[in-house]
Amino acid sequence: MTLPYAFIGLGHLGGNLAPSLQRNGFAVTVFDRDAAAVERLVALGASAAGSPAEAAARAGNAITCLPSPKVSETVLAGPDGLLQGLPAGGTWIEMSTNGRDDILQLAALASAKGIETLECPVTGGVHLAAAGKITALVGGDAALYERHRPAIEAMCAKSFLMGPIGSAAVIKVITNMLAFIHLVAAGEALMLAKQGGLDLAQAYHAIVASSGNSFVHETESQLVLNGSYDIGFTMDLALKDLGFALAMGRDFGTPLDLASRVNAIFEEGKRAYGGGAWSTQIVKLLEDEVGTELRAPGFPAKLEL
Ligand code: NAD
Repeated sequence: MTLPYAFIGLGHLGGNLAPSLQRNGFAVTVFDRDAAAVERLVALGASAAGSPAEAAARAGNAITCLPSPKVSETVLAGPDGLLQGLPAGGTWIEMSTNGRDDILQLAALASAKGIETLECPVTGGVHLAAAGKITALVGGDAALYERHRPAIEAMCAKSFLMGPIGSAAVIKVITNMLAFIHLVAAGEALMLAKQGGLDLAQAYHAIVASSGNSFVHETESQLVLNGSYDIGFTMDLALKDLGFALAMGRDFGTPLDLASRVNAIFEEGKRAYGGGAWSTQIVKLLEDEVGTELRAPGFPAKLEL
């Protein structure tokens, strides 16, 4: 049986996750404060609601994919929020990236109203989300995970139940911390190749086949070499996640020298290009500093599977 879901937050990520539910036969009721985002989903067969509360009341279970814990709190617990509409026994599935303390606090608000929470941040990027092949990192009750597994599997190729609520936030922040470190490293590697006189396309492929390869190099370096930098993920979101990582380092007594340095580089990137610039544009800082562009023919402007 496919449960119906409300889906709130139809941006770069959510706008690619919700269609996977629809393709797999789930009835989806959507809300976003951006009317154009709602229209895109309605054109694919979703029904539109006038508020998170209305969407939640219609569907009985709700999924969110929102930019910050503050927005998640408003959509969950504000006037016209999900908790005004979800029936007792309903589930809130949070797919946004949050800090551990944030999701614990939000889940407690939901629990006080008889609503169970499953945290389900994802990793892999918008191109994998568009293909229904992103990875889900799940925190929460095992039986609740089983209940919503069909929906999670409609959107995600792999899912990992990490433990109780909060544990998915920890691993999600870790994976993004690694990704941003890898991105800065890939930029430095390509610049060394360029300045060393190598053909950049050959250097890209040699690194892919080497012990120095990374998922980020395989994917985002292509967008650097194209010059689009269009990863569908912003500097602001990168800084949010690095902030969570640094807070975790303090809370867990773990020095994070690399993540601290990369956070400072992203702050510089935001100053240079703005918080709405693509996170991949962090490599442009080095290009601007050296005064040369990292471009090669044959690389796509957007990642596709
Ligand atoms: P986005 O800014 O593109 O989308 C956010 C959406 O939320 C927008 O459509 C916006 O209109 C909507 N929104 C904002 N405030 C709202 C409100 N009060 N009520 C209703 N809708 C509201 O962000 P995104 O890139 O889709 O990221 C969403 C979440 O997913 C973030 O937590 C991000 O860290 C995480 N994430 C993103 C990616 C990615 O590749 N983009 C990958 C993994 C995780």
